[in-house]
Amino acid sequence: MEQLIAICRPGFETEAGRELTDSAASGEVYGYFEPSVNQGFLTFHCPGPGQVEMLVQRLSIDQLVFVRDWFVVLADVALPTSDRVGAVIDALRSVDGAIPVCARIEIRLPENNADADLSNFARKWVSPLSKALRGAGLLEKDSKAESPARLEVLLTGFERAIVGFSLASNRARYVSGIPRLRLPASAPSRSALKLEEAWKVFLPPGQELDYLGSGKQAVDLGAAPGGWTWQLVRQGMMVTAVDNGPMNAELMASGHVEHVEADGYQWRPRRGVDWMVCDIVDHPRRTSEMVVHWLSAKLCRYTVFNLKLPMKKRYDEWLVCKDILEEGLAQTEMNFLLRARHLYHDREEITCFIERRD
Ligand code: SAM
Repeated sequence: MEQLIAICRPGFETEAGRELTDSAASGEVYGYFEPSVNQGFLTFHCPGPGQVEMLVQRLSIDQLVFVRDWFVVLADVALPTSDRVGAVIDALRSVDGAIPVCARIEIRLPENNADADLSNFARKWVSPLSKALRGAGLLEKDSKAESPARLEVLLTGFERAIVGFSLASNRARYVSGIPRLRLPASAPSRSALKLEEAWKVFLPPGQELDYLGSGKQAVDLGAAPGGWTWQLVRQGMMVTAVDNGPMNAELMASGHVEHVEADGYQWRPRRGVDWMVCDIVDHPRRTSEMVVHWLSAKLCRYTVFNLKLPMKKRYDEWLVCKDILEEGLAQTEMNFLLRARHLYHDREEITCFIERRD
């Protein structure tokens, strides 16, 4: 079976499928996709033997925006009510070719699953399924062992499981790209979670302090009421918050924030800062051009910003913005790392991160 399951936000299956088709083609894998209907995943079909493995070896999940996570399909299993575990084991035993060594199994549900019984079943099924797979030699004996891969099960209902594996070296850091974050009561807005997620997804693990450590200066464009500013202040940064709207009073009382009432697209700092973040979710091309200006004038070293994508042209608009960013930054002859992702906490927007590396 030459298929890959790609996970995305429900409703973005076509964007994720188009992105995967284009990206795979640039690595000379010419496949096609079949979207689920609003279930937050799609099936990507590869043309011939070995192609799907080639794809996950050539294309990094970090290069994709709308695809949040993925796994290679081993079997599409019809689950009888009498013996679901046995059906999975039989299906894996009849897979052609080797299955990578796996120490653990992850059972996922479609993101918008509303069936509480299915959720309960999935939670309770992990243990008997893992035990039986270990007994059958399909999982490592030691569940804590480091292994190059993990068995994956996507339970689309009580009757069907798509079973496969993901590579430890090339899968989302958080299962299905969903980090579990909690919003503290003192945060001025839910948007605070978005910046926290962006840092979790984009910053190299273990190096967060280098990027965020205290004493840094930040500018927050489109800052009100202050969720992102609050995150920056929590890291010990001094923040200039640019917005004509009112900022949260408690946050202003911290003494770490200067509120500037101005147009975020026009305003510039007198001296360069460490971080510029921008949550003005309106004009994606204008935001992209502004970001290029900030980086090429060395007004910031790191930036996180949102691009709101118009309904029906979401993937195409991202391609236009990506061109503006890549071409604009290429002209500076400086070195940049650009990443973008449709985060779990994003809706109609995507979040980008750029680091100036010189
Ligand atoms: N990041 C904020 C938070 O965490 O609380 C939420 C920002 S909200 C999504 C967008 C903000 O952008 C609004 O407060 C709005 O006033 C501001 N905004 C829109 N256009 C702007 C502009 N041209 N310059 C500055 N702020 C702008």
